[in-house]
Amino acid sequence: MVRVRLENVSKTFKGGVDAVKNLNLEVKDKEFVVLLGPSGCGKTTTLLMIAGVYKPNSGYIYFDDTIVNDLEPKDRNIGMVFQSYALYPHMTVYENIAFPLRLKKLPKQEIDARVREVSSMLKIEDLLNRKPSQLSGGQQQRVALARAIVKQPQLFLMDEPLSNLDAKIRVEVRAELKRLQRELGITTIYVTHDQAEAMSLADRIAVMNRGELQQYATPEELYNNPANTFVASFIGSPPANLLDAEVVLEPHPRVEVAGASFALPEDLAGVFKERGETRVTIMLRPEHIKVKRGKGFTVYSTEWLGREEYAFLRAPDGSLVRAVLSPEERFDVGEEVEIAFDFRKVHFYKRSGELIV
Ligand code: ADP
Ligand code: MG
Repeated sequence: MVRVRLENVSKTFKGGVDAVKNLNLEVKDKEFVVLLGPSGCGKTTTLLMIAGVYKPNSGYIYFDDTIVNDLEPKDRNIGMVFQSYALYPHMTVYENIAFPLRLKKLPKQEIDARVREVSSMLKIEDLLNRKPSQLSGGQQQRVALARAIVKQPQLFLMDEPLSNLDAKIRVEVRAELKRLQRELGITTIYVTHDQAEAMSLADRIAVMNRGELQQYATPEELYNNPANTFVASFIGSPPANLLDAEVVLEPHPRVEVAGASFALPEDLAGVFKERGETRVTIMLRPEHIKVKRGKGFTVYSTEWLGREEYAFLRAPDGSLVRAVLSPEERFDVGEEVEIAFDFRKVHFYKRSGELIV
């Protein structure tokens, strides 16, 4: 429907808060892009600049090849959905959905046809005569989605639309939303702080922190190759271990981490010989650690999550390392173990956070 491009976009609020800093982002036609990051990182501000509610202090926003900085929100042809459903309480569901079309002064028959079509899409045909107060949260959010869809916008902007829903309903509406977006082919920019939600919905995720873009990539790429320690710690569930480590090359290459020592493969040793970097942070995903009976680590606690069992291991230096336990072996709390991992799955970062290898 439309391609959206942000070029060096910045927003500073009165009082000097740099909410968004020099953001560059391109969202392809029909793409589903998620803005992901902790509370206060600038997601909503970015979305509202794309909506035209806020004006950037500098930079340009393009819809296709047109700069829209000065275009009014109502002229941008967008459908918005927020965390709070913002339905009109005195109107029925039918009237709520029809409202944007009435504003456009469409003929009554067309309005009726479109309301019924979108209601059947969202499976809310039976609710059309109810008032919002007579609906559950999940139903209200479906109505809010219907009201955004019925306008046939060229762009969806959604700000934490599922946050108020119970876990079960959230996953249901999430699947529906993804299917609808595909079916309608409407370019979508979706804000959330929930990494699992982002991973399940997005074609690409823009990870933000403190107003700055950290990495913009597919969910797979973010998981496999986080560009810095912020992304490494934010993506993945349960979260990755980020451990300060020392690379020692002589007499034999090794990594010292958490009070334990692991032989470093030759090719990686070569990288560190060249780079001269010795004080590093390593990322170890729980699922890449192999736990066996042995010495050095002790099982501190275990947590069974249905399909897998996770454990915190107390390392020789006292720090805690999270690992997946293999389903074949059972370990008791207090038991002594050792760990192994495949260095090809480990990433090394500078202490400042940037990726080394
Ligand atoms: P997010 O949606 O990622 O939680 P926001 O975009 O809402 O973050 O906020 C980014 C930063 O800008 C925060 O520090 C927030 O306090 C600040 N901020 C947001 N809106 C305003 C505003 N209208 N006036 C002043 N500061 C604001
Ligand atoms: Mg927000």
